[in-house]
Amino acid sequence: MVRKLLEHRFVSLVFPDRCCSCDRLLPDSDDFRAGRLADFCQFCLEQFSDPQSPSCPKCGVQGKLEVGADDCALCRRPGLCFVRGVAVGNYRGILKQQVLRMKREGNEILAFQFGRLLGEALLNNNLNDVDTVVPVPTHWWRRFKTGFHAADIICDGIRQKTGFKKNNRLLRYTRRTSKQGKLTTAQRFANVDGALRIGRGIVKGKTVLVVDDVMTSGATAAQATQTLLAAGANRVYMAVAARGAGLS
Ligand SMILES: [Zn+2]
Ligand SMILES: [Zn+2]
Repeated sequence: MVRKLLEHRFVSLVFPDRCCSCDRLLPDSDDFRAGRLADFCQFCLEQFSDPQSPSCPKCGVQGKLEVGADDCALCRRPGLCFVRGVAVGNYRGILKQQVLRMKREGNEILAFQFGRLLGEALLNNNLNDVDTVVPVPTHWWRRFKTGFHAADIICDGIRQKTGFKKNNRLLRYTRRTSKQGKLTTAQRFANVDGALRIGRGIVKGKTVLVVDDVMTSGATAAQATQTLLAAGANRVYMAVAARGAGLS
């Protein structure tokens, strides 16, 4: 990871910086040089999310809420008891392509830059009281197959932007689960029910930020949140690269 980032920085010194999503040249501004902006061009950022669009105040999914509702239907599912969540945008269009590319190619730089965007979103939403950042764990054989753990690298990007401490051993699987992608919502909740436990680290009284690549049904988020709260966490926030869309 560090070597790749150093390589990326070295290449940036020799060649002009390019958007890590679409490869367009980035503006040669002081903010980019100082690393204050994530390495995405304006075009891609506008495709990822529309700041003018209404969004769920709890999970950040973009789209119109039902009349009179405080949050989206997905957030009202039982067990989704995290306090607040942030997402780079909805899981569609260019963001969906890039999240799939990140996972398919083991693209650490992309995961790291999504993390930096999420770090900025957390600070902009005053979610700055995080004690511990924890990735949703991955099974070792899945990590072996893909070569890296996207949620863990997203945490690194968040940490670089915010200074929050990461503990990637705080959550552990108790058993093997199926991949969530092809399951129905009910099957997803059953698949991860009781599948997480606390690993190494202190949870009691802490504010914990759980990080995942995509949140769709919220089953994994619910399981992680319940596990942490049962162990005495004070509150739980969520951060995901993309929020599976359920709103129009
Ligand atoms: Zn771009
Ligand atoms: Zn929501």
